[in-house]
Amino acid sequence: MNSEYFSLPLAEPLTTAASEITEREGFLVSVDEPTAGLGEACPLPGWTESVDECRRALREADPDEIAGLPPAARHGAVLALLDAEARAEDVPLYQYLGRETRVDSVPVNATVGDADASTTADRVSAAVSEGFESVKLKLGARSLGADLERVHAAREAAPDAELRLDANGTWDRETASRAVDAVADHDVSYIEQPLPADDLAGHATLCGAGVGIALDEGIYEHGLDAVLEAEAADTLILKPMAMGGPDIALETAVVARGAGIDPVVTTTIDGAVARAAAVHVAAAIPDVSPCGLATGELLAADFQPDPAPVEAGRAQIPQRAGNTAATSPADYA
Ligand SMILES: [Mg+2]
Repeated sequence: MNSEYFSLPLAEPLTTAASEITEREGFLVSVDEPTAGLGEACPLPGWTESVDECRRALREADPDEIAGLPPAARHGAVLALLDAEARAEDVPLYQYLGRETRVDSVPVNATVGDADASTTADRVSAAVSEGFESVKLKLGARSLGADLERVHAAREAAPDAELRLDANGTWDRETASRAVDAVADHDVSYIEQPLPADDLAGHATLCGAGVGIALDEGIYEHGLDAVLEAEAADTLILKPMAMGGPDIALETAVVARGAGIDPVVTTTIDGAVARAAAVHVAAAIPDVSPCGLATGELLAADFQPDPAPVEAGRAQIPQRAGNTAATSPADYA
């Protein structure tokens, strides 16, 4: 197993829980058994191990012993192996992961970041004109009152779109409860992470109040079993990179769905190799809800033209064998 460092510049700086970053760093991981395969480890501190920890883990990794790797390193290693195995069987990755029928595309949501109400409405309108049927508004940077004006403006701008909200854990219980009451008549499908990740009981309290509750950060804090036990979510946001691999993300999606919780697959703003893999994971889930996979434009440069481009609000599924066309970092040289 070989790994090669990469750095991809972000189109705009990204503020994470850990710091502000201007590039996505990681490693392209390659294997040559059973045939050539390529994976991507793109750590995002706050969600995964650091870049240095990832580098160390990959350097010492034994391809037969990947279970103990930290999440991004494991994602890179497992994806390289899955890519090789799918190529060896001459099927696209999503079919190797278990989907038996051909899937041409999966729906994705547009993400609209913080801005005033009228700019929010303009961005939502633009997304709908591009063909997105689902729009996710990022909330929590303003007062609840100002955010509610944005939700109202978004709903007016896109009466028929699915509307999702993501508060990124910024509210306290009282604010979250007021938000749930206030958006209940705006046909919002869910509020993602209204409360901090550690407050599982608080999320359980918010469930059933007229708006769906989605957990993103919380799933990593508590694990799936605790979330199911607490009945703390209607939707789970699954990031293959942060979960430790496409295989784990898909298994989690299947278990969640069996428990009546809707899975949504998203990237961690990864390069094209991991992004394509997340699209394959989504394609492996029958009738998947719109996913957070339209993130290629957040990078100012990438390894290659998008292997799973978003057209009219849907990510196109690569149909060639394996994950993407590339089998080694040299393909991007
Ligand atoms: Mg989120």
